[in-house]
Amino acid sequence: MTFMLKIVVGFLISVLTIVEVSLSLDIPEVGRVTKVFDGDTVELESGIKVRYLGIDTPEIAHDNAPADCFGNEAKVKNASLVLGRKVKLRYDENEKFDRYGRLLAYVFLEDGTFINELLLKEGYAFVLRDASGFSLVKSFLEAQRDAIKNKRGLWGHCKYKKEPYYVGNLRSFVFHRSNCSVVNTISPSNRVRFETREEAFIEGYHPCRRCKP
Ligand SMILES: [Zn+2]
Repeated sequence: MTFMLKIVVGFLISVLTIVEVSLSLDIPEVGRVTKVFDGDTVELESGIKVRYLGIDTPEIAHDNAPADCFGNEAKVKNASLVLGRKVKLRYDENEKFDRYGRLLAYVFLEDGTFINELLLKEGYAFVLRDASGFSLVKSFLEAQRDAIKNKRGLWGHCKYKKEPYYVGNLRSFVFHRSNCSVVNTISPSNRVRFETREEAFIEGYHPCRRCKP
């Protein structure tokens, strides 16, 4: 094979690979939920895992760690809403996959019920965002604020050991107990102080997985 021919063949192979990859990443618009892992992650009939975009629910028990308060309740609620049902999936331009390769989606029932927002409104979930945010962050924060104010779900039920104050990271939108070892790794210009944990949630921060504030 001549040198030029090799280049042309190489180019064609890379184009075909790109086409193949984009086909295999075919993103579903609808699907039936066949498995519920927890309050914010499900599996579709096709085997695709879907993570609800913009929210997080308390952890269920895993790897010898006990469930967080309201973790099981969130899973039960999620299953009661979507398990066995057909759902519509909508996506955000800014975030389509999480770091584990799971699809990030806004999930709707056929009657229009918006699952992500409903879980926030009823106090089964909290807002999960980073500095880039997502298109519905404002209305999600409003739904969460409403749940906090009315002590719905976890906001009325769960008790936490109080801290003198809390420290948020402006870049990751994670907040910590004042004595969490992670706080020392945050550059001082990125630290935000909150007097209560509710204040941190209202500003769109989510709790550190290590110090669980
Ligand atoms: Zn922490």
